[in-house]
Amino acid sequence: MAKVAFLGLGVMGYPMAGHLSARGGHETRVYNRTTAKAEAWVGQFGGGHGRTPAEAADGAEFVFSCVGNDDDLRQVTIGEGGAFSSMAPGSVFVDHTTASAKVARELHAAAAERGIHFLDAPVSGGQAGAENGVLTVMVGGDADAYDRAEPVIRSFARMVGLMGPSGAGQLTKMVNQIAIAGLVQGLSEAIAFAKAADLDVEKVIGVISKGAAQSWQMENRWKTMDAGQFSFGFAVDWMRKDLGIVLDEAKTNGARLPVTALVDQFYADVQALGGNRWDTSSLIARLVPAKTA
Ligand code: NAP
Repeated sequence: MAKVAFLGLGVMGYPMAGHLSARGGHETRVYNRTTAKAEAWVGQFGGGHGRTPAEAADGAEFVFSCVGNDDDLRQVTIGEGGAFSSMAPGSVFVDHTTASAKVARELHAAAAERGIHFLDAPVSGGQAGAENGVLTVMVGGDADAYDRAEPVIRSFARMVGLMGPSGAGQLTKMVNQIAIAGLVQGLSEAIAFAKAADLDVEKVIGVISKGAAQSWQMENRWKTMDAGQFSFGFAVDWMRKDLGIVLDEAKTNGARLPVTALVDQFYADVQALGGNRWDTSSLIARLVPAKTA
């Protein structure tokens, strides 16, 4: 059992930290910017909480984080009261935020100067994956740090993979988001077309989901998309943040992403409809008016 810390008890971080403690049996100290959440977590799982990231991370062999974006991540690592200031040489920082590959490399270098290891380790699987401890984790960084961290990460993950050097975890998550963006738009257009053609959508999906058009989104989301229900996890605001990161990276590596860029703008339309917190399947609301908000 290891001594661990977890920074950022949001929708994802709260249950992930819970699994480290309850399932992994690790001695877990947490930090959350809004202290009430840290107190609630300690009330539920035991352990302790720090008033700053540095206080929570002090003496931990592994420090995990899951905050919002690049700047939030800088704040909890190298900002005032950041975790790097108290972490011992040889300890490992594992970041689960969806952030840029650039910030991952920057923090990998800043950590190395202090003798600390930094792994970028974004996740997929959403809120349900975090709550059920079955996330997929895509890791970038050094192999020896990965080998040490992997069994601890398994406390809340079903699939963990080292994808390459620092930044490779974030780049893999970008591939994931590119694949999802175009797919959800295609599914939205398919359902909207079926409705316009007066077909029985349930019958259509029942048949085509057994063929080449099948997807997780089709199997799990067609019904709620058809009903205009968009309260199933990953929010449009977060998706736009992720697609912004993707499109920035593509400017550097030269990849051409015409559909991804277009879908990003479609998500801007959904935001204009008031859908900032709707889940990502709400692309269909541009094509078929939503019945619910
Ligand atoms: P969330 O519920 O909004 O939680 C964000 C957490 O980060 C909160 O604990 C928040 O603290 C903390 N935080 C934000 N800015 C901070 C700062 N500057 N300093 C210290 N703490 C800060 O978000 P989430 O849904 O858990 O998502 C977290 C990350 O995982 C994001 O990068 C997201 O893209 C990614 N992700 C999310 C999902 C999903 O389905 N939700 C799926 C895959 C990946 P407070 O409580 O004080 O606000």
